[in-house]
Amino acid sequence: MKARTSFEKMAEAASQRNRPSISDAQFRWGCEHCFEHNALMRRRSDCEFICMECGEKFAYTETAVSELAAVVIEIFVTCPHCGRKLKVVVSPNRKNAISHVSSMQILAVWDGMQVVRTIHLFQRTKPGERAMYHYSEVIRRFVIPVDGKHSDKRNANHKEVVMARSRTVCHGYSDVFRTDTPITLKEDGEYYDFEPMCVYPRMSVLSILTRNGFSSKLCGEWRNKSIRPTTAIRRLLESPHYETIAKTKRYDLWYHLGEVFGMEEVTMIWPQIRLVLRHEYRIKDYGMWQDTLDMVRELELDTHSPKYILPDNLKALHDELAHRLDVIRKREEEEKRRARIRAQKEWESTYQKVFGGLLEYHLEVGDLDIQPLHNYDEFCDEGDAMHHCVETYWKRKDSYILSVKSNGKRLATVELSMSDFHIRQCRGKCNNRPARYDEICGLLRAQQANFMKLKPQLQRKKGVKHESV
Ligand SMILES: [Zn+2]
Repeated sequence: MKARTSFEKMAEAASQRNRPSISDAQFRWGCEHCFEHNALMRRRSDCEFICMECGEKFAYTETAVSELAAVVIEIFVTCPHCGRKLKVVVSPNRKNAISHVSSMQILAVWDGMQVVRTIHLFQRTKPGERAMYHYSEVIRRFVIPVDGKHSDKRNANHKEVVMARSRTVCHGYSDVFRTDTPITLKEDGEYYDFEPMCVYPRMSVLSILTRNGFSSKLCGEWRNKSIRPTTAIRRLLESPHYETIAKTKRYDLWYHLGEVFGMEEVTMIWPQIRLVLRHEYRIKDYGMWQDTLDMVRELELDTHSPKYILPDNLKALHDELAHRLDVIRKREEEEKRRARIRAQKEWESTYQKVFGGLLEYHLEVGDLDIQPLHNYDEFCDEGDAMHHCVETYWKRKDSYILSVKSNGKRLATVELSMSDFHIRQCRGKCNNRPARYDEICGLLRAQQANFMKLKPQLQRKKGVKHESV
């Protein structure tokens, strides 16, 4: 991609001046923090370790061995040769070299531009050998504020440019960058914006970010407790809400909101967040707090009341509101059900008029018994027993529905057209083709003239009149 805008040209020029190398201190810090460092044990009962960092063997004191005997989840020992603190792993057969890739981000300011540099770190360990490390810088993301003003639209107030090494064709994860290609301007994409394992704690940031509350604590910790630097930078340039949270140092709140919510949602619950900030309220369980807030809204309670937003006992409030909602929902459901039945029942007198003499029809041939469904209850019973949706045919004036039984057991449900009584459907259980399909259809076809006689003369006219009411 060729540099077109002045920002792209500036980024390119700055990138060419700064070689993709990092300082010894940065490299050492990355190796230390982005990987696990192990002491290998062959057997659980062993008290001999192999240091996977310097490759030397060492024995350990008896107290440690007795601890190990319990095989607790994480045990650390210190290598007497290289002085490294090592996590004990038990691996009886490990002989080969194993490689790991990890990533670190470094925040720098070049020519007035904020740069987030992504460094891939590589570790190779083999029992009995000194561990080997190397690195490659793969991505440089440049960010500049546009006018310094806030707005809630993404990218409205800052611009970003990405420079990176080429990627090999692979599913986008961290080790797909080709370290033998140069860092050049790239079309931005999500694979250039992933979460680093750790962030180098000595950060240089633009003064506007410091002014808006940026702190190394916000994204400088181990990844599971902190915010991605790129997210932190964007939000501090975009949102006055996040700026307030950062300035009050409520990183816990930021972390939760940043993980779960978009900017719009945060704007929506901002009055509640402000209450939390003002009263220095600590939320132990964010999921439950959010859930409670949703219920307060649904119950139309006061969403600005500390009683609901900052409860002393969140769990008790949550459970109480949940119970109240449950009662209301159940009552509503019951009412809806009753209303539905009432509405269906009201149709019954019309049903009688529309189908008139057809409802008196009854045919018995051998073990077969064929009768129409006479009212709404019968429609429901037929639908329940046959596992199909005949209930929805209630109120259809052009469908004459018959139930076919054999020795008292339901066999099929048949829909006939009211205009000429041809068979539209003949269905068994679960809408399958019923047994004795041909026999049933034959019988009903022979009855067509009979049905025409039973059909009420004014059926069409009355039906139309009713529909227009
Ligand atoms: Zn060692």
